[in-house]
Parts: sequence; C-alpha cells; structure tokens
Amino acid sequence: MITIDNYLDNHYIHRSNWLRAAVLGANDGIISISSLAIGVAAASSTRAPIALAAVAGLVAGALSMAAGEYVSVSSQKKNKKADIEREAKELEEMPEVELQILAEIYERRGLTKETALQVAKELTAVDALGAHVRDELGITEMSQANPIQAALASGTAFTVGGILPLLVTLFAPVNIMEYCLYGCTIIFLIILGTISAKTGGSNVKKAILRITVWGTIAMGLSAFVGYLFGVNV
Ligand SMILES: [Zn+2]
Repeated sequence: MITIDNYLDNHYIHRSNWLRAAVLGANDGIISISSLAIGVAAASSTRAPIALAAVAGLVAGALSMAAGEYVSVSSQKKNKKADIEREAKELEEMPEVELQILAEIYERRGLTKETALQVAKELTAVDALGAHVRDELGITEMSQANPIQAALASGTAFTVGGILPLLVTLFAPVNIMEYCLYGCTIIFLIILGTISAKTGGSNVKKAILRITVWGTIAMGLSAFVGYLFGVNV
C-alpha cells in the first residue's frame, strides 16, 4: 500500500543530506591522500616517507573535514533558529501583514486570490509558525542537518576514502608506486562516481568523467611538484 512516507522515500532528494556529505568526504579522502602520496613518491625512492605522508594526511584531513562540516552545519542551524525566532516575533506583532504575505506566496504558486487567502487562513489557524517557516522561509525538517552527525559522516567518509590509497602505499612495489597509486585511485573514483550517480539519480558517465578528470589533474600536479623536489633534493 502506498503511504505518504514510503512514497516520499522514493525520491532522491530524501537521500541527499547524508549522501552529499559521504560522497564529498570519500572523494576528498581518495584524491587528497593519493595526490599527497604520489607527490612524495615522485620525490622519494623508499616506502616509509610515502606511507608516513599518507597516514599524516589521513589524520589531518579527516579531522579538518569533520571540523569544517561541524562548523558549517552548526552555523546554518544557528541562522535558521534565529530566522524562526524572528518569524515568531513578526507573527505576534503583525499577524495581518503576515497572513497577507502567506496568501501572496500561495497566489504566486498559482492559486486564485480567494483560494490563496483561504488556504493561508486555514494553515494559520492550524499552525501559523509552521506554515511560515515551511512556506515563507523554506525551512523543512529535511533541511535541518545535525552538526555532529554531519561531522561524523564527513570525517568517516574521508577516512574510508583515504584508507584506499594508504593501502596502496603499504603494498605496491616502490619502483612503480606513482603508477599503482594513479591506477588504483582512478578505479576507486570510478566506483565512487558510479555509486553517487546511481543513488543520486544523475548521469553515470558524466559523474565518472567529472571525478576522474579532477582526480587526474590533482594527482598530475602533485606528481609534478614532487618530481621537482625530487630532482632538487
Ligand atoms: Zn512570515
């Protein structure tokens, strides 16, 4: 039986918050750790400095991703809370004006003037603040991400992504380390691109192309810098 809940679950938008953070984090983890490792590998002929750089990069990257996500989501949350409080005050101070604003919003969505006003009146009677928060401010339950959850998701995704190139630095032959890192990373990025495109409902080929081109640029530049350092050390 179709219910509103399982019907809504079918839509990609409902998977967006955690997916976006997870894919971005994993993508960052793979590209930044493999680029770091490729850069060091281009300048070094032993395994230890490459693996060490990968581990240090992984710890630093995971913590900074988590911290960045926590700060950005909590400041978004603070802004929304302040907006909701101001809206509640405006509703108290000028209910008539607020009712007109709500009716105008529904009119712009295509309702006739009379129907829009009627809908605004009925929704105001049921839950005035809820109607304004949802329809005037555009704040829905779904857009209220949890800062700790987002930080954990981002830090974990970065770590999961970054562990893959780290494993390559531990097991690939040192003399062809850069090529192994590049090859494996492109495979990881193709898998990630496919997962994110499939679950997000977007074009798989485009997603793969986008992610591998950026990965190649990042790794290429890091290798070049590492090579320059290698020649001069
Ligand atoms: Zn309002």
